[in-house]
Amino acid sequence: MDRTAALTPARPAPRLQVRRLIVGFSVLFVLAALVTLGALLNIASTLDSQEQDRSTFHATQALQQRVLASRQFLSSYAVWDAAFQHLAGEVDWHWAYEEKNVGESLYSASGYEGVFVVDDQRTAYALFKGKPTESPASAYLDTPLAPIIAQARQVAPAREQITQFVLLNGWPAVLSAAAIRPDKDVLESEVAAAPVMLFVDQLTEAKLAQLGQGAGLAEMRVEKVAGNTPAPSSIALGTTGYRLAWNSPQPGQQLRWAVLPPLFAALLVLGLVMLYLFRNALRSSLAIDQSLQRLEHSNQALEASEQRFRAVAEAASDWIWETDRNQRLTYLSQRFARVTGYRVEDWLGQPLNQLLACDTTPLSPWLDAQTDADPQQLANLRCAYRDHSGENRYCRISARAIVYNGKLGGFRGTASDITDEVDAHARIQHLSMHDALTGLANRNKLSRHLEHALLRGSESPPLTLLLLDLDNFKPINDSLGHAAGDAVLQEVAARLRDATRDGDLVARLGGDEFVLVLNGMDNRVEIDRLCARLIELLQRTIDFDQQPLQVGVSIGVAQTRTQGFDAGELIRCADIALYQAKADGKNTWRYFALEMSQQIQYRRQLENDLRQALKQNQFVLHYQPRYRLDDLQIVSVEALVRWQHPQEGLLGPDVFIALAEQSDLIATLGRWVLREACQAARDWPQALLVSVNLSPAQFARSDVVADVRDILLETGFPAQRLELEITENVMLNDIEGALGTMLALKELGVRLNMDDFGTGYSSLGYLRTYPFDSIKIDKRFIAGLNSQSGNDRAVVQAIINLGKAMGLTVTAEGVENEQQLQALGKERCHEVQGFYLSRPVDKASFEALLRQPHDQRHGAS
Ligand code: C2E
Ligand code: CA
Ligand code: CA
Repeated sequence: MDRTAALTPARPAPRLQVRRLIVGFSVLFVLAALVTLGALLNIASTLDSQEQDRSTFHATQALQQRVLASRQFLSSYAVWDAAFQHLAGEVDWHWAYEEKNVGESLYSASGYEGVFVVDDQRTAYALFKGKPTESPASAYLDTPLAPIIAQARQVAPAREQITQFVLLNGWPAVLSAAAIRPDKDVLESEVAAAPVMLFVDQLTEAKLAQLGQGAGLAEMRVEKVAGNTPAPSSIALGTTGYRLAWNSPQPGQQLRWAVLPPLFAALLVLGLVMLYLFRNALRSSLAIDQSLQRLEHSNQALEASEQRFRAVAEAASDWIWETDRNQRLTYLSQRFARVTGYRVEDWLGQPLNQLLACDTTPLSPWLDAQTDADPQQLANLRCAYRDHSGENRYCRISARAIVYNGKLGGFRGTASDITDEVDAHARIQHLSMHDALTGLANRNKLSRHLEHALLRGSESPPLTLLLLDLDNFKPINDSLGHAAGDAVLQEVAARLRDATRDGDLVARLGGDEFVLVLNGMDNRVEIDRLCARLIELLQRTIDFDQQPLQVGVSIGVAQTRTQGFDAGELIRCADIALYQAKADGKNTWRYFALEMSQQIQYRRQLENDLRQALKQNQFVLHYQPRYRLDDLQIVSVEALVRWQHPQEGLLGPDVFIALAEQSDLIATLGRWVLREACQAARDWPQALLVSVNLSPAQFARSDVVADVRDILLETGFPAQRLELEITENVMLNDIEGALGTMLALKELGVRLNMDDFGTGYSSLGYLRTYPFDSIKIDKRFIAGLNSQSGNDRAVVQAIINLGKAMGLTVTAEGVENEQQLQALGKERCHEVQGFYLSRPVDKASFEALLRQPHDQRHGAS
């Protein structure tokens, strides 16, 4: 799945989208508000104008009604014979005023402020507010009368009147004019000079109120026209400059007042709410933006780390696995397919323990235990599996619990294929436990076997140990060669195997020495029978190259019942008995007896001598150089102790080291060797390393670290030029203590070399755990390089490769001939040591060797 691909299409950020939405919403909101407002105002103004139209209509009606009434009323006075009689020509005041025909009641009852009779020249009759007045009509009215008079006369034949708005004393009034005429039909000419009666009805407040009431209009009034702005609720009163006005109801206005404030308030609230929501939306979109950005960043980081992981997973020689909580595989790196030959898909969903199995620790509970394990520490487990082609393979798996939010999500780890390592280990193990020539158990295996069998001390089941030594073997070997010797040894081994029971152990100690461990056997009769049978069997001729060969055998017998449950003691006793058997004429067997223990006496003596030797300085060091294989230059020298015995002569360490180890002399001796070596080496070339052998007993019985430090200080020898050679036995005795000591030694700056590599129990494990700088392949394997079997060569090759893989310097010791040197060169071993290059020599000889030119330095043997 490609995470980035899902993110790449350009998509505006949520904040931008929200912003656009907000702008859209705002515009919509304002538009909606404006439309609503517009509609409302429109309705209001429509309502207002409708109402205005209505009121104007009513006002006009009312005014017209009044004007009409006034005209009709005037008509009843003007078209009247009596009036014509009394008012045309000379006005009959008496008739008119006193007799009240056209009198005061016109004002008091009918409300005409002005009543005039005029003709072309003058005002013939005039009443103002019901009172006769001398002033002419024109004094009251602002309008030229002549046109009015003319019009009135013109319409008189049709009994019509004219009306006009005028100002009476400066205030609007309705002027009605009619020519006074008889009631009969008249011609226009007959009224051409007729007097005209004017009734002036001033629009007083009282009358207007009445008018308004009638029309249903409030506050009917007259007001001056200011400017030329048309007033809404008004009717112009002719050319008087006044108009009739009233208060028309304004439902629109009311509607506006009633609706607009709450509407504005609602809009305001809505606006505020929107603003709030927008702000929140913006804020949360900003937060989304940021978290999206973070998500993208973490996605990129994740992708990068995934790529890294893939790169690592593909490049690593290990494969990587992952399971769910139920330990079913959910992931396998591509390397899995290459290493196992399986297809990854075939295994996904399968339980891990179906693929891998561990014989010592069941995988499933082990994995479960990782849940509570310290996450800092990767647990390892060696597992076996069958690859696609059915081959048995091994891998080392590491595992760690996957925990999400405190919950177990599954497990993950790596699996390194260690088949080659395991095979090499097994080969080394086998070789370290078996004799390459005969396939019998070797001394190591024998020690282990005895150790195991005697584990419970005197509680252990009884056993009998037979030590066999061939008679007449050496002559065969010497005269007929190694091949004949080997054939004899192999045949002897086969016959011994045939003669023993399954539970018994047959071992070859080296040379022509064999050991039989008869478990559970304690019966002398049976032992005698077996020994006789063995002698008889081994005396039978052996065919080699059509040559009949014959050997004999002497047997020494030791039993736990009499010699105790100590392995070393058993062998020692069997050895003594064997010597006795040989001394007694060979082809026979002897049980150990105390009288035979002259050997013991000898050892005691030697032990005493050893104590003296230290005091009397009888020890010397011999030096054996170690060469770099590339150019055969001396890079290092091993100090090997010798004992200049006053009677016995120069004794090798094999004779006395074990003795020193059994007592506490080893610590003193060890210190002496160390001091002597450091002192001697101070003057040698700077680059030269000096190796000193440390005995396991030194580890156990003295403070090696303090000793080494003291001697380095004392002698001033640089620590980095000192190498300590340690065998695996050191680690066997006290695993934890040995590691601590070795780490402390490393801290002093000295180098550590694992001596006799390949002979121990599990050398590989030690290499991994302990801080070694170099290893020495045991000489037994180097000796095997000559043989045709190729087995030893494979082991040497495996050891060299392993050592190199672990960054260790690999030395081969016991190189005795050119053939071995060549073979080691082919395997690209780093360094070599052996008689072929130089035997161990005394100090003076070694220093002489150092002074020689390079090319003459070896072959000193
Ligand atoms: P090692 O540490 O394995 O020493 C190598 C032994 O192999 C030496 O025997 C050496 O002389 C012998 N050797 C060297 N080159 C060849 C060769 O080409 N062929 C054969 N067959 N042997 C070769 P050495 O000196 O008798 O020492 C025997 C063992 O005694 C040593 O085995 C070592 O474990 C122990 N040893 C020697 N010196 C000391 C010492 O100062 N302190 C302690 N604790 N042990 C010592
Ligand atoms: Ca050594
Ligand atoms: Ca060695």
